[in-house]
Amino acid sequence: MVMVTGGAGYIGSHAVLALRDAGYGIVVIDNLVTGFDWAVPGDVPLVRGDIADQPLVEATLRDHGVRAIMHFAGSVVVPESVSNPLKYYHNNSAKTRDLIESAVRIGVPHFIFSSTAATYGTPDVEAVREDTPQCPINPYGMSKLMTEHMLRDVAAAHPMNFCALRYFNVAGADPQGRTGQSTAGATHLIKVAVEAALGKRESVSIFGTDFDTPDGTGVRDYIHVSDLAAAHLLALEALMAQPTRNHLLNCGYGRGFSVLEVLDAVDRATNNPIKRVMVGRRAGDPGRLISDNKAILETFPWTPRHADLDQIVAHALAWERQLGDRA
Ligand code: UDP
Repeated sequence: MVMVTGGAGYIGSHAVLALRDAGYGIVVIDNLVTGFDWAVPGDVPLVRGDIADQPLVEATLRDHGVRAIMHFAGSVVVPESVSNPLKYYHNNSAKTRDLIESAVRIGVPHFIFSSTAATYGTPDVEAVREDTPQCPINPYGMSKLMTEHMLRDVAAAHPMNFCALRYFNVAGADPQGRTGQSTAGATHLIKVAVEAALGKRESVSIFGTDFDTPDGTGVRDYIHVSDLAAAHLLALEALMAQPTRNHLLNCGYGRGFSVLEVLDAVDRATNNPIKRVMVGRRAGDPGRLISDNKAILETFPWTPRHADLDQIVAHALAWERQLGDRA
């Protein structure tokens, strides 16, 4: 039995589908602040509550016989973390500390954590390896790095192993159209671009055209959310197979696309060019962030299936259409 925190949110709801498709028992805990109850399949129990509500969490862990936690709940908007850092240290670090304490008290043996490439800051390398120094440049990245450190220390002191997956730029939606990115007020490029393509916003701002990249715009390693969900399943299997081994792994494809390449792909998908507005750089944006993914490929039998940018965009667009004005 797996407890998925944030299972009503974007990445968590894809992990729930992957676990369910593989036949695992699941219980979701979500406070529904940014998640949606309709994103959780009807046959999966949803506990509406907070990960720091220790009596609730501990009763859930005990009642459901939970053996692993996949922890997605948290706040994810980088600019917001700069203007409201305490929200991030509260939601991402302090509440996760309480969740981990509940897991230790109940004796949950495995913990899988949504970490981020934002823990690396602005690395001056072609491709980021797991041993590239982690120097976050915003409170979001720092709040996640603090959790990596907590997990390392807790796993050394208690009978629990963990896997932290450091996500690069997650995008796309379930290929079968069962879930997708639904939260309003998105800031992530592909989501913003498909909203513009469907007339939900007027234009897309391009944050900086003077980076040291082939076309001057920012380059990122966009990873399809379903491949990411599949990596979580493999992480769970690895933790169960070797209960004394921990993993800290990049989750990306090891290649990058520029902002212009992403917008071109969205234009191709709809045959209707989005209005582009060139604006200055956004504070703290690195020019280029691409994963070295050798470690995950060597550690797990992970076969990315949706690395094609046009497919990522097509799935994001299909979900955005289906979403309509729902969220
Ligand atoms: N970006 C942009 N316009 C937007 C949103 C993002 O030009 O409306 C750029 C951003 O500067 C970066 C890339 O797109 O180079 C990916 O940004 P996103 O916010 O999706 O993810 P991040 O890499 O910041 O986590």
